[in-house]
Amino acid sequence: MKVKQCLVIGLGRFGTAVATTLYELGHEVVAVDIEEEHVQAVTNLVTHAAILDATDERALRSIGAGDFDEVVIAIGTDIRANILATMGAKGLGATHVVCKATDEISARVLEKIGADEVIRPEHDMGVRVAQRLAGVKRKDAPDLGGNISIVEIEVNERLRGTLKELNLSNRFGVQVIAINRAGKVEVTPRADELLRPHDLLVVVGDNHAIDALRRFSGE
Ligand code: ADP
Repeated sequence: MKVKQCLVIGLGRFGTAVATTLYELGHEVVAVDIEEEHVQAVTNLVTHAAILDATDERALRSIGAGDFDEVVIAIGTDIRANILATMGAKGLGATHVVCKATDEISARVLEKIGADEVIRPEHDMGVRVAQRLAGVKRKDAPDLGGNISIVEIEVNERLRGTLKELNLSNRFGVQVIAINRAGKVEVTPRADELLRPHDLLVVVGDNHAIDALRRFSGE
């Protein structure tokens, strides 16, 4: 496992959970908050904890906010602070900034100013719970590490023909390892297998390749 350098800004319930879990999983975690008591609460649970105002660009620069593999901005309520911290981190060159938002408008603003990922914990968890209760199967299988995933992609009019004709391994760099046809799973399908609408292709590949295939299929 590659040990990641992570910066977590904002140590409320969400930020604290992110910071301490990343640390437990073996990553290097710098955790900062403007409130001393929030910082103190995690001192022994992360690599380094510090008091810092994330709206102050110089302060962000002084901790090298642009050099972390992951920056998580977990300031929910104070959207102004969240925006400034996001702009600051991106401006310093941070490659992957994940922001927490409390509502849809804030989420859109954060995306616009360059957040690489925006999550709305309560909203997203609500959707997940509803999907689970309704029996919807998640399309994403766990990440296999090294950016490799196994996912299901539904066959539609853009994915017609046989596996051989589709030639997904050469065109996208992904491998079809099974076909789920109305719940009946065929492992190692034949190259001349004719795909039917609504078949689910179980595909393994690099996340970028899977994204490209998803865009192609219009998912
Ligand atoms: P949660 O719902 O996860 O508890 P909050 O939005 O309530 O999230 O918590 C945000 C955290 O961010 C708080 O601990 C707060 O002190 C911290 N915070 C707010 N503004 C700043 C800032 N400018 N710089 C650093 N941390 C901040």
